[in-house]
Amino acid sequence: MLADSPLVMGYCLFVIALLGLCMGSFLNCLAWRMTHDESVLKGRSHCTTCGHVLAARDLVPVLSWVMAKGRCRYCGERVSGRYPATELLCAVAYATIFLRYGLSVQTIELVAFASVLLVLSLTDLDDYVIPNATIVACVAIRLAYVVYQGMSGQADLPVVLRDTLLGGFAVAIPVLVLALVMDRVLGTESFGGGDVKLLFVAGMYFGWQQCLFLVMLACVLGIAFGVVSQRARTAKASDEGGSPRLIPFGPSIAAACWATMLVGEQVVGWYLGFFGL
Ligand SMILES: [Zn+2]
Repeated sequence: MLADSPLVMGYCLFVIALLGLCMGSFLNCLAWRMTHDESVLKGRSHCTTCGHVLAARDLVPVLSWVMAKGRCRYCGERVSGRYPATELLCAVAYATIFLRYGLSVQTIELVAFASVLLVLSLTDLDDYVIPNATIVACVAIRLAYVVYQGMSGQADLPVVLRDTLLGGFAVAIPVLVLALVMDRVLGTESFGGGDVKLLFVAGMYFGWQQCLFLVMLACVLGIAFGVVSQRARTAKASDEGGSPRLIPFGPSIAAACWATMLVGEQVVGWYLGFFGL
């Protein structure tokens, strides 16, 4: 098959990584606009400090940042390293999903899902918010793929639709109960409402078996991340008069979703084998 030739695969990998870089740049901008109440569709990209509209040469992913030595070309203010880092991360995410799923409709589904996960990770990091629009987008992408499976005869539409929704509830309901109990015990918000909704989404994509791995990984990442960034976040939250949350779960759940896309099935196979099932 043509698609199996190493040359074709290499070329596709290159193209999809490049697409990831460009999308990373766009998604960064999208997340920034969502947290700053700017129109997502209107207006041109501008420096967040001086407001100067950016030219094409300022918008090349990673390279523009490197060439300008991490500063705005107009006002000289530092531009966060987060921008090129996110662009690279997006390229790596796209490339790994392509390597795992090849030239397939599922690759398109998961690349789209990963893109939304990136946006909500950024908004959660900045503002402790997972916008409802991102949750709706995740659900819509999943349902579109489920309908595709049904229409193309790969699966029985009512059955996959039912399993998809059951997967969501099977993950979200126990987490919701746990969150309510922990909130009572700790006297502070443990999981945010957005985190529970995001885990509902994860259940829709991966089913409850893979989500056992996903939730465990998200907790480990969240705690590790929380320990590292606790001091900075506490200072920031008290500056803004808010109360610091214990653990930033949005980006951790997103990262765990990515890991589950890549190795979820193998991990489930491994632990079911471990219990002799
Ligand atoms: Zn500037």
